[in-house]
Amino acid sequence: MNPLATLLERLAGLGADALLISAPANVRYLSGFSSPEDGRVLLSADGALLLTDGRYIAQASEESRLEVAITELGKPWHQDVAERVPGKTLAVEADHLTQQLFEQLKEKLDGKVVATSGWVAELRLLKTPAELAHLREAARITDAAFSHILGVIEPGLSEVEVALKLEAFMRQHGADGKSFEIIVASGPRSAMPHGVASQKRLAAGELVTLDFGAKVQGYHADMTRTMALGEISSELRRLYDAVLRAQEAALAALAPGKDGQEIDALARGILAEAGLDGYFSHGLGHGVGLQIHEGPRLSKTISQVLKPGMTVTVEPGIYIPGLVGVRIEDLAVITETGYERLSHSDKALMVL
Ligand code: ZN
Ligand code: ZN
Repeated sequence: MNPLATLLERLAGLGADALLISAPANVRYLSGFSSPEDGRVLLSADGALLLTDGRYIAQASEESRLEVAITELGKPWHQDVAERVPGKTLAVEADHLTQQLFEQLKEKLDGKVVATSGWVAELRLLKTPAELAHLREAARITDAAFSHILGVIEPGLSEVEVALKLEAFMRQHGADGKSFEIIVASGPRSAMPHGVASQKRLAAGELVTLDFGAKVQGYHADMTRTMALGEISSELRRLYDAVLRAQEAALAALAPGKDGQEIDALARGILAEAGLDGYFSHGLGHGVGLQIHEGPRLSKTISQVLKPGMTVTVEPGIYIPGLVGVRIEDLAVITETGYERLSHSDKALMVL
């Protein structure tokens, strides 16, 4: 069913007349508007409007699939919204709207404001063919940037220089930008799962973890590779092999009907067998789309059944504080029969 029709049905079930969508990823999903931080969608049985301001008249009319309405200059947007639904009950996104805006809307609408949670996020779980095409393209540019960096990465470069080269390549090859602050974590810094690139210089004999992705039409790619700069010890190689085994087994287990929790447990079990219990300090994976982290989760704590059209990353890692870390991450989409890998970069340990 069309997402707007589904939302209208839920709205009727709640006994409300109009729905205000304010979370940027949800605004973009429903309207196609690429500056969703400055837009809102107002949906009712009368239709759906993209509300934005005068700076975006041309852009919004070019991009929006919904009728565009421009908020009068100087008028706060919540006031504009309230004036468009006089006497009606307005449903809002509690996951996004601030308490202050919630109270302001309530005041203007005589208290007739009700909270909803996760409605659009739930629709966004299942990607359409058009969304998958953007994700495939984002993953393709990410792979290309990785093969480019293999030819230029060397001891002596700073982590920041590596990150800049990755970003420049991705933008030159069609990305809107990077999916998130690029992680380049070398030597002991690789033990920080979110070690964004620093001024540290790469040194021979270290492992270096790159976690990055291209963004295309608002859709994010996400991939991690860990590589060796010159010869590394047999113990580091053993760590790498254990993470790779866990990653490949978990990836191969992806299929519709499987629970994210059991896939997480599978990877965690393989690391435990290698004596690495306790060093895998985050969930196995997450959905990716208009947000870098969205549903579903592959995690120890959340049970979530996988369905065709869902995207997931599979990214086991081990982190030994002060010493070293290894993470390997691919992006995949669940299909009717199993999964399709969107990241294609090689995963055998690369010794550069
Ligand atoms: Zn990542
Ligand atoms: Zn990730």
